[in-house]
Amino acid sequence: MPVTGTCLCGAVRFRVKRMSGIVECHCSMCRKAAGGHAGFFFVAMRDEVTWDGAEHLTVHRSSPGLERSFCSRCGTAMTGANLVTPDDTIILAANALDEPVPARVIASEHTASKASWFDGHDAAPACEGPWPGWRDLKP
Ligand SMILES: [Zn+2]
Ligand SMILES: [Zn+2]
Repeated sequence: MPVTGTCLCGAVRFRVKRMSGIVECHCSMCRKAAGGHAGFFFVAMRDEVTWDGAEHLTVHRSSPGLERSFCSRCGTAMTGANLVTPDDTIILAANALDEPVPARVIASEHTASKASWFDGHDAAPACEGPWPGWRDLKP
């Protein structure tokens, strides 16, 4: 079964035949690009990726020789930091994946740059639905 990823607004979709395990990156660039305490990425073979709506991707060169892309309509990260001169693989953004996903997180990296505000979830309340505390949440 192919694996798909879509952006929040639905303008961009990727479909891959096979995917690697998912790597969690805590570096500050991945946190900003993917919009969370870490970025989550996996690798696919470039010639096994089919794009719909690729014209809606905006490419950002985040470091010399590396570029990332996101949906220009809704901002969803769609790729990780890929070589500007591509090889036969591509790094895709796991945040865009649709269920079911036949892979799991296999490693985390750059934990030395971990966000100071994120120490894991274990001590925080976890709710299957919305957290009722939103109603009274103030700075
Ligand atoms: Zn979008
Ligand atoms: Zn990173």
